[in-house]
Amino acid sequence: MVIFALILTLLLTACAEQAVNEPVPEPDVTDETPKETAAAKYVPAPVSSDSLYVKKAEGIGDDFIMGMDASSVIALEASGVKYYAFDGEEQDVFRILADNGITHIRVRIWNDPYDENGNGYGGGNNDIDKCVEIGKRATKYGMKLIADFHYSDFWADPAKQFVPKAWQGMSVEQKADALYAYTVESLTKLRDAGVDVGMVAVGNETNQYFCGEKSWLKITLLMKSGCRAVREVFPDALIALHFANPENNSYPAYAEKLKEYEVDYDVFGSSYYPYWHGTLDNLSAELAEVGKTYGKKTMIMETSWAYTAEDTDFSGNTIGEGSLVTKNYPYTVQAQANCVRDVINCAASTETCIGVCYWEGTWISVGTESWEENHEKWEKFGSGWASSYAAGYDPNDAGKYYGGCAVDNQAFFDAHGHALESLKVWALAKTGNEIAPQPDAIEDVNLMIDLAGEVELPETVNAVMTDDSKEAIPVVWDIDDNKIAEMKSGGVKKYDITGRAGDFTAHAYVSMVEYNYLRNWSFEEGEEAWTATNLAATEQLYVEDKQTDSMSGSKHYHFWSAGKDTVEFRLEQTVTDLRPGAYSFDISVMGGDCGETEIYAYAVTSGGEVRSELIPISGYGNWNSGNTGTFEVTDGSVTVGIYVRCSGEGNGAWGKIDDALLNSSK
Ligand code: CA
Repeated sequence: MVIFALILTLLLTACAEQAVNEPVPEPDVTDETPKETAAAKYVPAPVSSDSLYVKKAEGIGDDFIMGMDASSVIALEASGVKYYAFDGEEQDVFRILADNGITHIRVRIWNDPYDENGNGYGGGNNDIDKCVEIGKRATKYGMKLIADFHYSDFWADPAKQFVPKAWQGMSVEQKADALYAYTVESLTKLRDAGVDVGMVAVGNETNQYFCGEKSWLKITLLMKSGCRAVREVFPDALIALHFANPENNSYPAYAEKLKEYEVDYDVFGSSYYPYWHGTLDNLSAELAEVGKTYGKKTMIMETSWAYTAEDTDFSGNTIGEGSLVTKNYPYTVQAQANCVRDVINCAASTETCIGVCYWEGTWISVGTESWEENHEKWEKFGSGWASSYAAGYDPNDAGKYYGGCAVDNQAFFDAHGHALESLKVWALAKTGNEIAPQPDAIEDVNLMIDLAGEVELPETVNAVMTDDSKEAIPVVWDIDDNKIAEMKSGGVKKYDITGRAGDFTAHAYVSMVEYNYLRNWSFEEGEEAWTATNLAATEQLYVEDKQTDSMSGSKHYHFWSAGKDTVEFRLEQTVTDLRPGAYSFDISVMGGDCGETEIYAYAVTSGGEVRSELIPISGYGNWNSGNTGTFEVTDGSVTVGIYVRCSGEGNGAWGKIDDALLNSSK
């Protein structure tokens, strides 16, 4: 079928002007390879949209890479997934991508993603044969392949760089030889199949950790093996090295090491997920510095944004409803396009940056009926992020949390495979499509109202427009006097008040609270009013601006220390001029790697000190609070705070403190 479609495409392309339905000759099944790829170059038609706003991205050159990672397509198709073009017709997904401006298809490659019984680990079961299959289809539609070697049998990322099973126990020299041989063998398969390979990545998100090694000497020895193999088999392809976490500002240091150890590569690549990786300005600065100082090309190798908050395959998503990430854009089709446009614009305006690749824009639900049905497909075809068979190789992550797709809401196709308007952003970013802006989403309203005060909601809400600007529009809240009376008498409680704003539903999340006598209770004003006393050798003690790590607002108080038994401090605030009476104090903390801990909230008055129960530390995102219970203030003054002592383990004790509440106790 592939051959048949290829020849049909060639004919249609070559004979487009004749408009004659010539009989299609029987394909020659012995010759699977399109030998003359240049002559068969697929030329997509121009793209237009009357609903998608696209601000023109400046400085996109003719060779700019518009990439799409489509690694899981084969496993998805085996699971029954079909893709539909904008005309509603079923279509080869690679043609749909080419038709909408995609120039490169990226595919991850795992050495041996199978258990001893031949069951696939999942994530597409992407070995080199899968890559060849996808590469041939990409080539057919005029796109180049970005081959992404993880040099692992399953997922590789900054935290995880498992050695392939076959290489376990090898010395680093033996591993370097094996890596070279494997790379030559794999790339030769791609070459023999006629795949148009534009770029080869040696490693995936290798932040000073690669194929089981953590020293630069060993990492670069392995990287050099891979790079040598690429130069030999595909001398015209670009060699990329791929890193993550630009927000740590470590890229120039990485590039310096690569230079020091004389690694021969062309492209310094970075992942950029807006909800994890800092600002685009910071990314641009990091890439520009590496590009300029070390004479390298740079590229954004992975990015994505969600078109909906909804999960459609019964397997939780990375971002969406309830996720704890910074929400840079709304979760809409238009906002997905805006996010991609902004990333493209960043790349195009960063000297040395040659393109952007989206991550898994084709990974959609294998079914929307039930978890059971989907689970069967994930296990059988490897179309979920991990199957249960991966447990032997990756017991602590895949072994525990195997399941479906975590990015089905970040694809460019809906749950049933229909192309979303946002896919056109790749083609339209070059020219722009700056049509009249319309409201696209409504920003949530978050309010804290004192139980003793008035319940007043704003008369307007912010509409996020299709061009990503904001406009205040009138809102009518669904609230009456009965509801207000209920809220005022209901004690400390949160309410979701809905309203109508134009064609949209607006949400006001109202927290009814007791009056908080503390100043700067959520650290939004930095250290203001707080005093920290370092009682040991805690290395980091400061207010951090990071919404995802904050309980309220965007800031919190951060602590970290690498050494064992070095974390011990107090953080406290003294309040004066209080009316005599009963009060209570409450404060929250989260953290990890803390080892043995002694953490409690306290209040010191002229009558002495009261303490909360010990506050446990239970990992990222798990806030635990300590409450002192009631104490009496007689002279108007109290000092409240938190005491923290951790033994520390692993990478050092870390934690976040937020939301300090000093309330009167009735
Ligand atoms: Ca999902």
